[in-house]
Amino acid sequence: MRDNIPHIAIIGAGLAGSVLSNRLVEAGFLISVYDKSRGTGGRLSSCRIDDISADLGAPYFDTTDPDMLSWLKAQPKVKPWQPKHIGYYKTDLPSPLLYVVEPRQSALTRSLMEGSTFIPQCRIAYIWPEKENQETQVILRDEHGKGLGNFDAVIVTAPAPQATTLLEAVPRFAKRASEIETHMNWVAVIKINPASSAAELISGDHPVLRRCVKDSAKPGRAIEHGGEVWLIEANACWSEANRDSDPEQVFEQLKSSFYELLDIDTEVLAYRCHRWLYSAHKGIDEGYLWDSELNIGACGDWLQGEGLSGAWKSANLMADRLIKDYQTALA
Ligand SMILES: Cc1cc2nc3c(=O)[nH]c(=O)nc-3n(C[C@H](O)[C@H](O)[C@H](O)COP(=O)(O)OP(=O)(O)OC[C@H]3O[C@@H](n4cnc5c(N)ncnc54)[C@H](O)[C@@H]3O)c2cc1C
Repeated sequence: MRDNIPHIAIIGAGLAGSVLSNRLVEAGFLISVYDKSRGTGGRLSSCRIDDISADLGAPYFDTTDPDMLSWLKAQPKVKPWQPKHIGYYKTDLPSPLLYVVEPRQSALTRSLMEGSTFIPQCRIAYIWPEKENQETQVILRDEHGKGLGNFDAVIVTAPAPQATTLLEAVPRFAKRASEIETHMNWVAVIKINPASSAAELISGDHPVLRRCVKDSAKPGRAIEHGGEVWLIEANACWSEANRDSDPEQVFEQLKSSFYELLDIDTEVLAYRCHRWLYSAHKGIDEGYLWDSELNIGACGDWLQGEGLSGAWKSANLMADRLIKDYQTALA
């Protein structure tokens, strides 16, 4: 094996980090992926509730980008899903054709990272370039100041506010990240006794809710011992107004709004309430950031449009650039 294979560290194991890892491993790079969380997925992650796992972040792929659609369809764990869709006043709405990952959304990011080294529960705090004999190596340290080694390049895929501090070594990148508008939102995952409603997706204008998605109706998520699981998302306005509220109170409000919609009063078997501090960005169309002198870059949803397709596109553009810049070293 060659000992001069470029070694790149990717910060973040969300969709952008895992797509980038997949492309670069295929191209012959050595890849290490660091994430502060226990698992992969980022805003596409899943959580344990009771004895099952449920999606806590983006509940499905609703992209219309033809390139991303054909990529999604080629992923073995991705399945089509056409949920029964109603509005908040029980009006029937057209069922959209969506895509979900079996048996949970984070299975996609996990499988894309095959071939890389994944270092979970490691919060990166310091990224700095060091020049030696015309060569730049990038140093990484965790939040406790522990050195994690030198890399040929480091790519940050964290949400913009977190990327701001990580990109301090390249002030123009840090400034770019600090200017991005970010929104938060509250969500609750709830396991209940089966409700009588056939609805699987509920959306529309509501004073509290953005969307309710029946997680247990998605492919590959049948619950063995009965019950059903829903993801209840608060809308951006209500979330912002309740930014610092107690999670118990938030849960009660989300639950009662949801119960009122379905006209049910069934027992709650388990729940989890979560505040996504950086749920969405008002993205720019820069594609990615890359400084080929300092070997530091960034990609993610905030750099290319927004949402899942933004993250996917940005990661692919970043991969194209790195494969081009390192083609001699990879040959
Ligand atoms: C509830 C919810 C619903 C959504 N619904 C939709 C939808 O319907 N359609 C859509 O298109 N999009 C949706 N989105 C947005 C979509 O999930 C994101 O745009 C996309 O997943 C972003 O991917 P990413 O890889 O750019 O960032 P992320 O998924 O945020 O990945 C970044 C990773 O970096 C890690 N990280 C951050 N800082 C550090 C550090 N210092 N050290 C180590 N690791 C670090 C984080 O832990 C995270 O895993 C939704 C998001 C949420 C939260």
